[in-house]
Amino acid sequence: MKANYHTHTTWCDGKDSPEAVVLAAIGKGFDAIGFSSHAMLPEDDTSWVLTPEKAPRYAAEVRALAEKYEARIRVLCGVEADYVPCGATPDRSSYAAISPDYIIGSVHFIAAPDGARVSVDESPESLADGIRSHFAGSVEAYLHAYFAQVREMLLTCDFDIAGHLDLVRKFNSRFPYFDESAPWYLAELDLTADAVAASGKIAEVNTGAISRGWLDDVYPSSAFRDRLRSRGVKFILSADAHAADAIDCAFDRFGTCEAFLTFPNASTRSAGSHPLPH
Ligand SMILES: [Zn+2]
Ligand SMILES: [Zn+2]
Repeated sequence: MKANYHTHTTWCDGKDSPEAVVLAAIGKGFDAIGFSSHAMLPEDDTSWVLTPEKAPRYAAEVRALAEKYEARIRVLCGVEADYVPCGATPDRSSYAAISPDYIIGSVHFIAAPDGARVSVDESPESLADGIRSHFAGSVEAYLHAYFAQVREMLLTCDFDIAGHLDLVRKFNSRFPYFDESAPWYLAELDLTADAVAASGKIAEVNTGAISRGWLDDVYPSSAFRDRLRSRGVKFILSADAHAADAIDCAFDRFGTCEAFLTFPNASTRSAGSHPLPH
């Protein structure tokens, strides 16, 4: 079964329309394609996320495509929802209005002790500035805060797929800023793998940093995947695609590295359906 469930379009920060992505997926022989627009961040700039006003129109467009192309491919309507403490929660109840087929829970912003929000993945420069200005220059404090926030999300929110669990590695290949083999870092991976297992959520193996040239590797790292696998966590392969031609980026390289889940029985018709195994 060939499928990708982490796909961005012009409804958020992607390059192509949903229909262009569906046609590309059909062209690549996909059995299913799932859309996952960024959803409802409590930021001033909402031009690249689904607002509560845009979300129903997004869902209607994706469900219309599901019907139009029903005979050729299964089309699913999901969201990639942020977790920001005291801000946004990737919780099923927050998205009840559009009854998404699945929710990817992701952390892109860290709540700093002084109340600021530090972007994890905007740019190496803004990250360096965020750590300097809001974590007293301590990379370790920043990384502890990141993983603590991921664990809080996992254990308090009702969603399905844990998105790019170690997004903090994004700049660490081209602009190294921490040692991924340091004992304190590996201890964070252990604690976070415990939380994923306890939550029953699915961990994605995300090739998005490859298509955008930041890493020659997936999230989570091999060391992190070992820890997740040994705790019985299930994986799903995803491209985190921001363009139609990236929906299977590096799937040939990583498609055999785990036993990946798919959504064989997912239906886009039954409102409130919850097709993912828990
Ligand atoms: Zn993301
Ligand atoms: Zn994404």
